[in-house]
Amino acid sequence: MAQKQEGAFMMPERLTLMAVHAHPDDEIFGTGGVFARAADEGMRTVLVVSTGGEEGEIRVPGRDTPEEHARLAQIRAEELRRSADVLGIEQVQFLGYRDSGMLGTPANENPENFLNSDRDEAVGRVVRLIREVRPDVLVTYDERGGYGHPDHVTAHEVTTAGVEAAADPDRYPELGLPVWSVPKFYNSVNPRSVWTWIGQQMVERGIAPEPEESDYDYESYMAPDEVITTRVDVSPYVARKKAALMQHETQISSDDWLNRMPEDLMDTLLSTESFIRVRSVVPVPPEEDDLFAGLRQATTVGDAGSVA
Ligand SMILES: [Zn+2]
Repeated sequence: MAQKQEGAFMMPERLTLMAVHAHPDDEIFGTGGVFARAADEGMRTVLVVSTGGEEGEIRVPGRDTPEEHARLAQIRAEELRRSADVLGIEQVQFLGYRDSGMLGTPANENPENFLNSDRDEAVGRVVRLIREVRPDVLVTYDERGGYGHPDHVTAHEVTTAGVEAAADPDRYPELGLPVWSVPKFYNSVNPRSVWTWIGQQMVERGIAPEPEESDYDYESYMAPDEVITTRVDVSPYVARKKAALMQHETQISSDDWLNRMPEDLMDTLLSTESFIRVRSVVPVPPEEDDLFAGLRQATTVGDAGSVA
């Protein structure tokens, strides 16, 4: 974990975006564009990943071996660093937990995993990072955990508790770090309307089966559009998000649904990132198109006009 100089506790000169994710490769879909945009605008960008992604599949033919699985966390950390470089993410931090696996798999029972972690200790790890980094904007998943993965739901719970605790001088005083009240806190969400439209298009074009043929209730993981407060147009960054996805080599398969998705649908999916604003200490419009709305006036950032 990065040690801060004494001077780091002063108000940072640059605005800072921090996001807490569950696994390597989760950084791209919901936050890759806002990270790339923040980086281009000269902001500080910090990605926190809760687990090593040890339970992930290896989809590259010939590499799905016990030896590769044994060192998957290391492989995925390297893939993540390359993806972070593509997106302009300055700092990558791991919370240090083990992947809990998909819901209903034996990995859920592993005492070392994120799901079974001591909750106070996990919140403490998030509090330490919030107090060290002092983010202006913090993002994690909503309570649905994006798609219900136990590590995504746990990331939501631990980060939400961490935001509150980081601002409370009576919590975690043993860290020896000054408290930090996060000015803006968001939940990253999948808008129901967009995914419903994508699903319909996939069926209409004969790429996916009719929804009733699947028992996966994906709609329950989507956020109703009326609760979304913030939609950020990240269309200038779609190419970089795709390039970042390609860095996660072990996770890519030519036959998975992402690769079967036609380019135009993929571009639609990647070009907007949607959020629910959980808290803001600055006045904001009810509907925003910028995570930093209300904060930019307070701090001078670099050339906000430069877009990749
Ligand atoms: Zn994940």
